[in-house]
Amino acid sequence: PARTRFAPSPTGYLHLGSLRTALFNYLLAKATGGQFLLRIEDTDKVGRFWTIPDAERRLYEDLRWAGLQWDEGPEVGGPHGPYRQSERTPLYQSHAHKLLDSGHAYRCFCSAERLHQLAEQRAALGVATDYDRTCASIPKDESDERAAKGEQHVIRLLVPEDYPEFNDLVYGHVGRGKKKRRQDMVAYEDPILLKTDGLPTYHLANVVDDHHMKITHVIRGDEWLPATPKHLAMYDAFGWEPPQFAHVALLVDEKGRSSIGIFPETLVNFVALLGWSHNRGNDCMDMEKLIERFHTKFTKGNAKVKLDKLWFLQHKHAIRRIESGQTDDMVESIVKLVKETPETQGYEAMLRGRTLEDYRNAYLFSSGNPAPRPLSFQGLGATDLATIIRGLYEIPADQWNATSLKTRVEKIVADVITDIAEREGAKEADIKNMQKVVNGKVLHFLRSRIAHGQHGPNMSEVMELLGREETLRKFGPWEW
Ligand code: GLU
Repeated sequence: PARTRFAPSPTGYLHLGSLRTALFNYLLAKATGGQFLLRIEDTDKVGRFWTIPDAERRLYEDLRWAGLQWDEGPEVGGPHGPYRQSERTPLYQSHAHKLLDSGHAYRCFCSAERLHQLAEQRAALGVATDYDRTCASIPKDESDERAAKGEQHVIRLLVPEDYPEFNDLVYGHVGRGKKKRRQDMVAYEDPILLKTDGLPTYHLANVVDDHHMKITHVIRGDEWLPATPKHLAMYDAFGWEPPQFAHVALLVDEKGRSSIGIFPETLVNFVALLGWSHNRGNDCMDMEKLIERFHTKFTKGNAKVKLDKLWFLQHKHAIRRIESGQTDDMVESIVKLVKETPETQGYEAMLRGRTLEDYRNAYLFSSGNPAPRPLSFQGLGATDLATIIRGLYEIPADQWNATSLKTRVEKIVADVITDIAEREGAKEADIKNMQKVVNGKVLHFLRSRIAHGQHGPNMSEVMELLGREETLRKFGPWEW
């Protein structure tokens, strides 16, 4: 039986890629009669700006909506808790000290300035910004003494001469990574395990937890493949048996479009078929079928999202629902839409049936972090965009409802017009003419950020529905 886990950082809502990672872990656990764990990786204080207060609650909701109930984790507990990393700090600290004592790690007292200089020197040579091991030669008693006196430091892993080799379930044999050498500047990838504030990095917390939670298989995004040799070096240093790894590909969305009003079983079915296939006929599978057919022969390389397939599956699942008499209001409206639309018209047709509630599901398709802000947008310049975003930030939480939002957005439009008029020395008459154009551009900009440019309910309604935090997050900070 496999023990698997889904280990998201609460920096955004569940999106298509993370849902798929969670699903594969769930399927593997269920297919082998094992357990599926949920662990919240919330140790990274630097990324706090992106942390959304109710992201965790929404994450639980989305996982349950999709039918991925975890066997151990937040809210349900379990023998290896707590399952939130911010509540496990002492465990990580004691483990970092274990590695210090066994000589697999060392304290690094280098100042931020020194590290910065090193990075600059290396960048000039075109070498990655790794550490030069100055502090690795500090004798243990001196290091202990300096730490006891309260000198600021981090703890780094002393990586071995050669990284351990391993077999990835997707990538196959992953060979030895050699340390990079360039001229007389030797660089070592000695990753930081414990930061100056005593909190663990992702690397340490991830390895310590996977071991203590008795995880047997780690299925995760292939952006973590390059970090895996470091993790294995840590398993070796602790003398632990590592889990099996499967690094699954990223998702490439056809046109970055959102989706709407789909059944959970449709989405789960769709997501399962991205970068994974079975050779047993019918692609229309519910959770039970998926579990029955599950195997870990994932596809290498990026999986392309073909949204027509989603429509096809929705069609099939709608028919199943009708046949089994499973209908409520939402089902009925979707079934109606499905019935009225020829199978061949596909996804475009679904968009027409969009309702406000459907927007929530659209989240499963939107990415975790917003794209960088453009410098201009349809003739609006950087200052105008900053005015718009600052205007949004200035709307207090108690006015975050569709009615007030509409008025506030009108005020923002007026501010932008005043700025432009001043800049361009516009006359009274011109200003009147600008009203409609600027209004259109501002709304278009809001829609491009908030709803990924999708048509749908009006912006103030959508903004109310998403809430203040999530709406603002879509824009990033207003200062540059
Ligand atoms: N917290 C990491 C993430 O959100 C988890 C990576 C892993 O599964 O090891 O990507």
